[in-house]
Amino acid sequence: MARRAAIAALLFTLIMGLYIVRLAWLQLTPGSNHASSALASSRGGWKRMSVAQRQRSLVLDTGRGDFLDRSGRPITGETYSTVALFPILATERGNEQQLRKLAGILKVNVSDLTSWWDALRDPSFWHAKGQSLPYRLSEGQVRELSQLQLQGIKVLPYRNRYIEGFNSKQAIGYTSQHPEWLEAVYPKELASGKRMLTDQVGGAGLEKSLDKLLRGIGATSVSYFVDSSLKPMKGLDLRITQPNNSYYPLQIGTTLDLELQNRIEAYADSVRLQEGAIVVLDTKNADIVAMVSRPMMDPEHLGAQEGKPLLNHALIAAPPGSVFKLVTEAAALEAGVANEHERFTCTGEYGRYGLSCWKEGGHGTLTLREGLAQSCNIAFATIAERMSAEQFARTAAALGVGRQAGWHAEKPFGPFREPLRLLGEEEAGQLFDRHSVGGADNGDTHIAADGGVMAQSAIGQRDVQMTPLQAANLVVTLLNKGRVMEPRLVREIRYASGQRMVKFDAKQASAKGVGRIHPATARVLLRGMEAVVDHGTGRSIRQGVWTVAGKSGTANVTRDGKPRVHQWFTGYGPAQSPRYAVAVLSKYRPPNSPNEATKLFRGVMDIIAETEQRSAEP
Ligand SMILES: [Zn+2]
Repeated sequence: MARRAAIAALLFTLIMGLYIVRLAWLQLTPGSNHASSALASSRGGWKRMSVAQRQRSLVLDTGRGDFLDRSGRPITGETYSTVALFPILATERGNEQQLRKLAGILKVNVSDLTSWWDALRDPSFWHAKGQSLPYRLSEGQVRELSQLQLQGIKVLPYRNRYIEGFNSKQAIGYTSQHPEWLEAVYPKELASGKRMLTDQVGGAGLEKSLDKLLRGIGATSVSYFVDSSLKPMKGLDLRITQPNNSYYPLQIGTTLDLELQNRIEAYADSVRLQEGAIVVLDTKNADIVAMVSRPMMDPEHLGAQEGKPLLNHALIAAPPGSVFKLVTEAAALEAGVANEHERFTCTGEYGRYGLSCWKEGGHGTLTLREGLAQSCNIAFATIAERMSAEQFARTAAALGVGRQAGWHAEKPFGPFREPLRLLGEEEAGQLFDRHSVGGADNGDTHIAADGGVMAQSAIGQRDVQMTPLQAANLVVTLLNKGRVMEPRLVREIRYASGQRMVKFDAKQASAKGVGRIHPATARVLLRGMEAVVDHGTGRSIRQGVWTVAGKSGTANVTRDGKPRVHQWFTGYGPAQSPRYAVAVLSKYRPPNSPNEATKLFRGVMDIIAETEQRSAEP
């Protein structure tokens, strides 16, 4: 008996040894391997790529942590029963009749099944035709399979990360093989063998920013033993290896509302949002309740979607157009160079810098508040030119323009020994491009923005850039009397045992220069946003479940040399007792097309209102 065990152990070691040699050979042979192509592409930034790997053991669960929504509903991770087939001799499997039964249970014809099994060199999960995930067995199928006296098959629990409906949760991100990133971030672990180039790692979103915690302490896998003629030694000798630690995998408690997220995603598809984003924040603490980006991301088929679909457009800065008038007006009020009742005259032409109002013939005489409601370019160019560039820049910075808005920690806390930024891909946006206007780079605080730069920037053109997350957070700031919050996407992390590992407190922005504007300024802007929907540029969305308020924007851009527009809307609802701030961006739309973002803003607000009403019902 002892001798037999010793032979088995020796054989196992030998198989593993061969496997390691083979893997090393794969990685060291130039031309034929993926490690060298990873190095070759390092100049253009790391790329996601596949590393060829064959397995002697089957991974049932990677041990990677999972994500939950704000009510504890799983966003990733489910376990289901599947069946694995092992490469044993055809003569050892069982008889014809048993094989036919198996084929019947798996709903496949018997010759397809046998030829597939005959070709098998490593154990493999059974897959339905065209499916990338292991076959999902019903309880009935599990029962039938357990009664089948066949060798070389085994029903096993499989942990699937991307549950149905996961697609396009760019905020969560995806995992895939990133050998180059591993080389850059985990050189020691790679050298010691703790990590392998073939490991699945976080490629974007929270999967990337929390990768170190998420990856856990090891996989649950099943290995098997055979003798040299591929005959199973005394049946199929399986061994399940799993980490012996009740604290892992971790559970990441996000701020997302899965139901709202899914409903808004479905809505974005039903109205065919081509490229853009929708962000929903909780106005009380700036928590990210939903974050949708299009085009779609499908983590199971990343190879077919190089580049763009992986982008989270909610975090990418783009020209905001007239949404930026909120910042311009705040700056003018803070600088004391205008008030909401002051009157301006718009003839349609500004008379300088080639700047005109979008309304042909002009708005006539109107107050600053009406100027915001009607989005009059002339009123806003006028107030911008009264300010110094520093005054404009100071308020823009105080409102968070030019800095990443999302929750971050500079100092170590909990398990994090390095500064942490939850939304790693987030862009900062800007008011002026320091290179184009000059100044500031040499420590000089003077900004050399002339009247033309000021007037163009006032209406959110020129070099002005904002992310949809910043646009939604701007509204939260105004609703919180001018105090800037840092939108959270994670509330807490718990151990598998349920015990809390670390808490992320909602917090105010702490970066230097970011802080707050006067409550009176915020109040004026909120009144202006109410006027926008009541009778201004947003009046088309006046009707709906809730009364809403907000600001529209259209920014001129080009794509492939053709003129296009980015359409924006950012606002809040219900207007009387605000609970949600929403920003919508629809990119690269045809010029002069109706503002799709305004329409979508209303649609999203109605979905939120209906979802709230439904959940309030007993
Ligand atoms: Zn005008």
